[in-house]
Amino acid sequence: MDDILHSELMTEMIRTATEMYRHGWDERNSGNISILLDEDQLGNVGKLPAIRTIPMNFTAKELSGRCFLVTGTGKYFKNIRYAPERDLGIIRVCENGSDADLLWGFSDGGSFTSELPAHLMGHISRLKADPENKVILHCHPSNILAMTFVHSLDEREFTRTLWQMCTESMIIFPDGVGVLPWMLCGTDEIAAATAQKLTSSRIVVWAQHGIYACGRCLDETFGLIETAEKAAEIYMKIAHLPRLNTINDDQLRQIAKRFNVTPREEYLE
Ligand SMILES: [Zn+2]
Repeated sequence: MDDILHSELMTEMIRTATEMYRHGWDERNSGNISILLDEDQLGNVGKLPAIRTIPMNFTAKELSGRCFLVTGTGKYFKNIRYAPERDLGIIRVCENGSDADLLWGFSDGGSFTSELPAHLMGHISRLKADPENKVILHCHPSNILAMTFVHSLDEREFTRTLWQMCTESMIIFPDGVGVLPWMLCGTDEIAAATAQKLTSSRIVVWAQHGIYACGRCLDETFGLIETAEKAAEIYMKIAHLPRLNTINDDQLRQIAKRFNVTPREEYLE
């Protein structure tokens, strides 16, 4: 039996995917997750010969030899907990940077998410900003999505609104959110634009589509999305009502001081 299936890594991955589904962020086969693995997280899996080699249709020389736990293409987050070995895979990027060796998983002959290039570009980009970054999540939270229909897509304005919706928003994402206008998904263009934005903020909103977030662990990254989505939910509840009160910039500065975070200075008045 694979001990990887009962590892802390796999338990957290399955719990996160299940919670993302339960939150309504991953309808049908939407959403994808990738985690950069340390060699010691691989256990025996790292010592076994590759099951097969899968072309990535993308070259990521910088990641040659690096291993990732990733969700599969066409798989439903709803089902991952029942069939992790079928719906998840562990891959190692080959020396050429453009193929990946499958070390574990995708037991039905499946493959990794079609958004793998966007994830790998995101990892390369984010690792330059934070060498400890491990996780990238993509999903479709309803309120963030709804907000992109009725709110300015200006990053400063979008971030300020989210910060103003809950006192603790700014503590969780002082780096703010990046926002991309509607772009065709699954393309190198949106992948490159997302990767570029991930250098300065850990959350990137895709207008009329969803969200990308990155972090050092699954909990941190899930929590980023959860907090931004909560703020967006409050906004969608109040946007059409007269605003009598708000969290002003002086109060935002007080929060930053008390909780020792450094918000993007240019985002405060
Ligand atoms: Zn999507």
